[in-house]
Order: sequence, then C-alpha cells, then structure tokens
Amino acid sequence: MATASDQEKRPVGSAEDIGAPKRVTEPSDDMTPFEAASFFFYESADRLNLDQEMREILASSYRELAVQVPVVMDDGHRMVFRGYRIQHNGARGPYKGGIRYHESADLDEVRALAALMTWKNALIDVPFGGAKGGVQCDPRAMSDSELQKLTRRFTAMIGYVIGLNRDIPAPDMGTNAQTMAWMMDAYGQKYGYTPGIVTGKPVEMGGSPGREEATGRGVIMCTKEATEKMKTKFKGARIAIQGFGNVGYWAARIAEEEGAKVVAVSDVEGGIFNSDGLEVEKVDKHRWDQGGVTSYPDGDKMSNEDLLEVECDILIPAAIQGVIHSGNAEKINAPLVVEAANGPTTPVADQILTKRDITVLPDILVNAGGVTVSYFEWVQNIQQFRWEIDHVNAELEKRMNKATDEVFARSEKDQTVLRDAAFDIAVERVARAAEIRGYV
Ligand code: NAD
Repeated sequence: MATASDQEKRPVGSAEDIGAPKRVTEPSDDMTPFEAASFFFYESADRLNLDQEMREILASSYRELAVQVPVVMDDGHRMVFRGYRIQHNGARGPYKGGIRYHESADLDEVRALAALMTWKNALIDVPFGGAKGGVQCDPRAMSDSELQKLTRRFTAMIGYVIGLNRDIPAPDMGTNAQTMAWMMDAYGQKYGYTPGIVTGKPVEMGGSPGREEATGRGVIMCTKEATEKMKTKFKGARIAIQGFGNVGYWAARIAEEEGAKVVAVSDVEGGIFNSDGLEVEKVDKHRWDQGGVTSYPDGDKMSNEDLLEVECDILIPAAIQGVIHSGNAEKINAPLVVEAANGPTTPVADQILTKRDITVLPDILVNAGGVTVSYFEWVQNIQQFRWEIDHVNAELEKRMNKATDEVFARSEKDQTVLRDAAFDIAVERVARAAEIRGYV
C-alpha cells in the first residue's frame, strides 16, 4: 500500500487531477471553502492512518455535474445561470444533500458542502452518502415566477443523476419547501410520481411533519446535551444567533421555549441586541412585516460583525461559512460556539478558539437534524405512511443525543477537540464502507 508521503510523487491519476484541492498544511483565512473542508478531512486521515488510495477516493468527488440554466426573466430578457450537482461519496447509501441558491454557490463551495454531507450523514448514521447542489444566483432579486422557471429547468438538467435510490436533494440556503415542491413536480413530469425524489417538501405534498424546524430543533437538542456534559446550564443561558432564516429562527424559537435567553439575532442586513432577551415570535413577525430584523424596535441595532463578538454564553453562527476567522477569533466572547451553519469557522480561527479554550460544537454534528428528518421523510414516502410529529421529534432526539454522546466519548478517549472526534468517527465509517464495497 502507498503511504501519505507518496502523495507528492504521484503522477496523473491522483485525486488532485479530478478536483481535490492541494493539501494546505498551514491554514489561513484565504483558503477556499473546499480547501477548508478538506483540511479537516486530511487531519483526520492522518490521525486514522488512512492509506493513500483511500485518501484519493475520499478527497475528491465521485461525480460532478455542471449545467447551464437559462431562464427568461419577467422583463423578457434571458439570463444563463450556472448550476451544479456534486456527489461526493456514496459508499454508505444514496447521495443526499441540499440545493443552495446563492451568489457564492460556485464549484468550489458546492464541492465543500457535498463532502461535508458525506461526513455528516455518516456521523448521524443515516444510510446516505453525501452530495450538494447549487445555482449561482441571487434569489432575493428574483420573482417567484423566475424562481419556479429556474428550479424546473435546473431539475430537468440534473434529472439524469438524481433518483429515489440514487440522489435525493433537499432545501438549503435560498431554497425552501416551495422549491422542493417545484422540483418534485418537474421530476414527476418526466419520470412519474416520485415524492421521495426530494425531501423538505410541504407537508401536504408528502413532506414530513417536523422537517421545517428539524435543523434548528436538532441544533438545540445537541446544545442541551452538550451543556449537560460540560456541566453548564442551558436554562437561562444567554444566546446570540447570526442568521435568522430557517435554521436561525427555529433555533432561537426552540431555545427560548427551552428556557434560554436569546439576546441577539441578525439577518444579512445586520443584527439587534437586547440584554433582557428578545421576544423571538415578535422579532419573527417583524421580519415578515418589514422585510428584516434590523428595524425591530425593542433592541439595539448592531452589525453582523459585532454580533459575533457579543458577550454571551452560547454563540450560534447560523448563516454562512467563514464568518469566524483570524480577524475576530480572538474577540469571540462566548465559552461555547455552536456551528449551526456549514463551515462558519475557518481552520485558522478553529485553532485560535481551541487555544483560547473555547468549545466548538462542529457543524457536521450540530446541524445534522435536518438531514435526519429528511431521512424520516424519505422513509415515509417509500412506505406511503405518515408519522406523527411526536414520533418524528422523539426519533430525532434519540439520534442527535446518540451522535453527541459518541462525539464527546471519542474526544475524551482520544484527547482531541470535538471537531476532530466528529471527523474521525465519520471518516472511519465511510472508509470502512468504501473498503467493504471494494472501492479500494
Ligand atoms: P436561509 O436562507 O433560510 O437563512 C439564511 C440567513 O442568513 C438569513 O437570515 C440571511 O439573511 C442570513 N445571511 C445571509 N447572508 C448573510 C451574511 N453574509 N451575513 C449574515 N447573515 C447572512 O438558510 P438556512 O436554511 O437557515 O441555512 C443557514 C445555514 O445552515 C447554511 O450554512 C446552511 O448550509 C446550513 N444548514 C441548513 C439546513 C437546513 O435544513 N435548512 C441544514 C443543515 C445546514
């Protein structure tokens, strides 16, 4: 077997030739999202002593589809968007991962998110591989009719590589249950009625009760379990949340229901702060009425940057990647950072937080509640049988708590930080499945 040190010498035929990033050993804020995600993978591969062949398989995507998505806009002119579906690894089951509509959703970002899905699905132990999709667009600047046309065309273009037992998309940033309903309909027109082709659908279209709030609910389940292990209190904890979309809103609402105090929230325009605690439902009503949270009257306005530095017990980044970096990691003023977003902490910031003894609950664990209930939705679609909400939430809690316990136990056993423990469990499971299947 070749060893890791052979990597330098390898001729054409290595993972780098098909898109894996060159390994970065000295992390910096300039790393691309895929370099950052791969950094954590390579570190884990070293700890697990994975041989070179296995690294090559796991460092690159299995399949990458880039498509043109032409859309006739409402004013009659045509725009051509770039869309991707990237399947990273399917050793443990059909590919699974969301579809992101965002200006930053380029090939590198979607590759990073696809790889993170492989690790997340393995860690939470659902029978899926990892994938992600994206269309590089600004959904906020598009009408519903333009978004519907974009979604239908994109679905037609990637229809060849998705499937009930092949690859099952879901919502992510910039997409929602409505987007999934359009996808299901567009796919069904060609391939026949297939509700399980996407998850995160509206409940009346075969969606699962509890899916909409599942990621935010899972974030709080995991946080509560972690605070118990760390012998700190969740009840009464002061929480600051960046991002007030699907994940941020539900995390805020459930945290409040569970007795914590949400002192700050934000959206893309900025944040609001109230040391006595914000009333989450009122903030939510305000954002729907006014188009954002920043003009909410019962709080002080603050920037997104300042929100991350607020003095609190728990900081939850729930928006985009790379927001905690070398420039602000020294100023984070919370003993616990809970990564609800994907990749919110750059590898260099991660090292600074570790040095400062700040505990980081890693994204592949924290936000796995969404894909877990997506798995339940897929199961319900296949069985044509609907679960009750209490059953969904109880099963979700079991899985979130089990995975959290496993990560804490591994971290204790190996004396590593929680992210390393989470990656080691996940990479080990995927490598084992790849080996059993005979990939290497
Ligand atoms: P969303 O589109 O519903 O909400 C995103 C929120 O972030 C909005 O409030 C938006 O205003 C804010 N935002 C956008 N750009 C920002 C910026 N530059 N600075 C600060 N805030 C900004 O998206 P979501 O579904 O809530 O996803 C949020 C994060 O959670 C993403 O990283 C996503 O990949 C991750 N995630 C989502 C799910 C899910 O089920 N939706 C599952 C797992 C992980």
